[in-house]
Amino acid sequence: MRGYVREIFSSFQGEGPLVGRRQIFVRFSGCPLHCVYCDTPHARDFSSGTLMSESEVLRRISALRTSDLHSISFTGGEPLAQPDFLRTLASSTRKEGLANYIETNGFNADSFSTTADLFDFASIDIKLKVHNAVPPEKYDELYRNEIETVRISVDSGVYTIVKVVILRGTPVDEIRRICDELSSFDIKFVIQPFTTSKRRRMEREQPGGAWNAVESQAEPRVEELFRISEIAGKFLRDVMVIPQMHKMLDIA
Ligand code: SF4
Repeated sequence: MRGYVREIFSSFQGEGPLVGRRQIFVRFSGCPLHCVYCDTPHARDFSSGTLMSESEVLRRISALRTSDLHSISFTGGEPLAQPDFLRTLASSTRKEGLANYIETNGFNADSFSTTADLFDFASIDIKLKVHNAVPPEKYDELYRNEIETVRISVDSGVYTIVKVVILRGTPVDEIRRICDELSSFDIKFVIQPFTTSKRRRMEREQPGGAWNAVESQAEPRVEELFRISEIAGKFLRDVMVIPQMHKMLDIA
């Protein structure tokens, strides 16, 4: 079997409660969403990747193994956009005794249900309306798929992380509604402030670097994070605010 892969590399997990764990990242190309804050826009098109066989991916994973390896992270783009290829790869890595981690936007709960048994860890996004991931008339369908993906993950015994990216001015009522809906699930809830990368910050400080002022204005204020964390804490037991570490270190 073959599928579209953008890149395979070894690095540290940069988000969520497993931040700092060494992983081999298999970045699938192709994603059906269009989030305003996307930091991998180059991976959204299938054609941005290389058509690779299962054996080629496994050979590269094998070459990147290190003594501190925590797990294989299937990321994107969106890995569930190629569910058969994902299932084939995750089956093979599991047979080799490796732990599997999936980072998904949860756009297709049916696809997730066919692969959930192969994952030890799942990081599932909940997109807010302001993220413009889909046209407004498609938002409810996306949201229902995300919630269903969380339910399948929890019911499958997967260590489940639910992540929401926070931009400046995020509507707190929407956060309250989402947390209420998630309150019956055993999850880690990650509030991830939108963060400008270290490189971008340095560029901004250069003469003429004001071009990315829009990005800096999208970063939430600290008081917004306190407020959102407190609201989430009313519904959920395990709430954390964690920025993206790889942007601070300027690594992949
Ligand atoms: S789901 Fe992820 S890869 Fe797809 S557009 Fe949104 S941020 Fe980018």
